[in-house]
Amino acid sequence: MRVTTAFKRLMDLPGVTVTDVDFQPARVVVSVRLRSAKLTCPECGFTTTARYDTRPVPSWWRHLDLGRWRLEVRADLRRIDCPTHGARTEGVPFARAGSKFTRDFEDLVGWLATIMDKTALRRLVRIDWDTVGRIIERVMATGLDKRRLDNLFVAGVDEVSWRKGHSYVTLVSNHTTGKFVWGKEGKDTATLDSFFDDLGEERSAQITAMSMDMGPAYEKSAKKQHHAVNAVICYDPFHVVQLVTTALDKVRRQVWQDLRKLPDQEAAKRFKGARWALLKNPGDLTDDQAATLRRLKRRGGDLWRAYALKEALRAIFAGDLTEDEVGELLDRFCSKAQRSGLKPFVTAARTIRKRRAGILAAVRLGVNNACHEGLNRRVRLIVNRAYGFHSANAALGLIMLTLGPIDHVLPHERRRAVDP
Ligand SMILES: [Zn+2]
Repeated sequence: MRVTTAFKRLMDLPGVTVTDVDFQPARVVVSVRLRSAKLTCPECGFTTTARYDTRPVPSWWRHLDLGRWRLEVRADLRRIDCPTHGARTEGVPFARAGSKFTRDFEDLVGWLATIMDKTALRRLVRIDWDTVGRIIERVMATGLDKRRLDNLFVAGVDEVSWRKGHSYVTLVSNHTTGKFVWGKEGKDTATLDSFFDDLGEERSAQITAMSMDMGPAYEKSAKKQHHAVNAVICYDPFHVVQLVTTALDKVRRQVWQDLRKLPDQEAAKRFKGARWALLKNPGDLTDDQAATLRRLKRRGGDLWRAYALKEALRAIFAGDLTEDEVGELLDRFCSKAQRSGLKPFVTAARTIRKRRAGILAAVRLGVNNACHEGLNRRVRLIVNRAYGFHSANAALGLIMLTLGPIDHVLPHERRRAVDP
């Protein structure tokens, strides 16, 4: 067997003939020629036999490693004059538009990124993290299930910060399947508007319930004409508890500020570790945090009252109460919070009163914590890894690739036209 024939079989790239194989230090360069006489626009798939010219320099892609060898594909490409996109280098059947990697390579990296940490991935595939981000974006663009927005009846929308500072993406999930179906950079009314644009009027009208946080931005979009016109707007327990947890954190910060002004600096120092002890669910505390919490209890005062209020609210949504019972306890919580004299709690209680109907709707419709909190926790883990990406789309891609409707097909799982 000739070496070119052997490499054609080994690499298994669609639509090419291998013309040369060159062994260089630590890498193998395989020259290929496209078999089709037709040229294809990489952007839109327009085909023609008319060439515009030939690209003066060869094009390169990295393919899957061959043992310890790095494998590079090289081809002289023609240029096409697309009526829509103008003069472009022709598209190739084995790589995505604009990529320096073959589709096989990208599909493998896209899958690895969902299950492997940054350091391991970089070492294994020998590309930097930002390049991984760009690969993920391309895999997401072509890999999302086209029917993911069908049969969306109970939806949840949430914002996620993907980088320190104020960089957000908005995510829409399907409560029935527990998967994300849509995402975009931003967290305002216009961001959610583009979700409804993608969904279309008919499918938007099918949504029966939509859960969200208690801010005004998403609700404003949901209530617009042609959007979620038939949906009950719910505020799921996750967001209600989050609201009160934020109030608790404000009280904590105030107490800390007051302590710092005291002559005894030790008290403020000891208090520093209190944040997570207070904000985490009691069941998730480490031994140290549990001890901190016991100390705070002995100290009593504003902070302990605030903590007790937060825990009382959380208990309401344990999932074992009827809508009426939740309503009653919620009212009792609000009066207590308003009488507490703790300013952040007075504000939170006012918001809860105003949103009462929507909170109870979530309980009635079973738009519960478990699904949402579970997704949220997994998103935070992914986002921690996505730090270091330079674009919101790469972070979004990692979330969608891991928790969205994408079927990962690895190179060896794909059926090829020609099997040897
Ligand atoms: Zn085109």
